[in-house]
Amino acid sequence: MDHKLDLLPLELPGLKLERPILIAGPCSAETEEQVLETARLLSAQGVKIFRAGIWKPRTRPGAFEGVGTLGLPWLKKVKEETGMFISVEVATAHHVYEALKFGVDMLWIGARTTANPFAVQEVADALAGSDVPVLVKNPVNPDLDLWIGAIERVNRAGIKRIGAIHRGFSTYDKTEFRNNPEWQIPIELRRRVPNLPIITDPSHISGKSEMIADVSQEAMDLNFDGLIIESHICPEKAWSDASQQVTPDHLSDIMGNLVVRQSAIGDRPRVTLDELRKKIDLLDKQLLETLSSRMKISEAIGKYKFDNNITILQTRRYDEIMNKRKEQAEESKLNPEFVIRVFEHVHEESINRQNKIMNKELAKD
Ligand code: PEP
Ligand code: MN
Repeated sequence: MDHKLDLLPLELPGLKLERPILIAGPCSAETEEQVLETARLLSAQGVKIFRAGIWKPRTRPGAFEGVGTLGLPWLKKVKEETGMFISVEVATAHHVYEALKFGVDMLWIGARTTANPFAVQEVADALAGSDVPVLVKNPVNPDLDLWIGAIERVNRAGIKRIGAIHRGFSTYDKTEFRNNPEWQIPIELRRRVPNLPIITDPSHISGKSEMIADVSQEAMDLNFDGLIIESHICPEKAWSDASQQVTPDHLSDIMGNLVVRQSAIGDRPRVTLDELRKKIDLLDKQLLETLSSRMKISEAIGKYKFDNNITILQTRRYDEIMNKRKEQAEESKLNPEFVIRVFEHVHEESINRQNKIMNKELAKD
């Protein structure tokens, strides 16, 4: 489905946002001192947009849930003193009113909020009549339609300067990432909504400061439009997300080493060779995982054959497999000869595995 969004370029008064857009600042505003000191260092490096969470949706109760409205005057000071634009996360109508009252320049909707259409609608209704730019994070679950749905709700409230933030997706399985990037999802978002800037959040994707540089580079190689990176004057003492925040100096190194290849939004084809290669890599990984699962099942069959004293090669079953795969190849618009060649190799390896199992079992006797 095509999504007709009524969008304008993402910009702030007097600041055209060019690739790579950079938003940096602490996960949370903690104290006036921490906010201002971090902001001064970031501003000195040329960061133009400052982020800080004022209301923090935490997974478990009892964790630090943000300083609330109390922190908004600190951000106002950041703006007055450094000239940076300020941005905060909003999750309720009250947050929107408070943020706009204090002159916040850009808002973002967090991952937990995007997952809830009622909450997004409440925020969208509160935004009506304003022209503040809004960034919409992906929902915690890998649901592209839900992400686009939230963007549409904000757009229908009259907000035209919208960007998406890709912060990865939660999984029950432990992976090297805090939130699995599933790059194919923002890539597909770009295909469906080509003029929507997509900003990568390497902090929440990686969950650890050592990985931010690599994830940032990957985002640039995939031609995304910018980065939102958590930076804290003293990460180890941060009240939230301590392990993933980087010092302003570390951020400066990351940005200094970043290789930014492509050009600005809109004036080049948005699908790059790197993106296509990434898709191939993901599919190859799936192919390998599927092959590995298939081999494990072959081994289980080998064990069954041994226990029941059946020969490994069952000619009738082999013919059946090959005929079926030939038919399926045609249905999938693949060359049947190619598919048969592939399955001959797969079958051969499968037989080898079963042989090994049989020999192992024999050796046990
Ligand atoms: C954040 O940006 O600090 C935050 C809470 O992120 P997310 O909504 O991506 O979890
Ligand atoms: Mn955070």
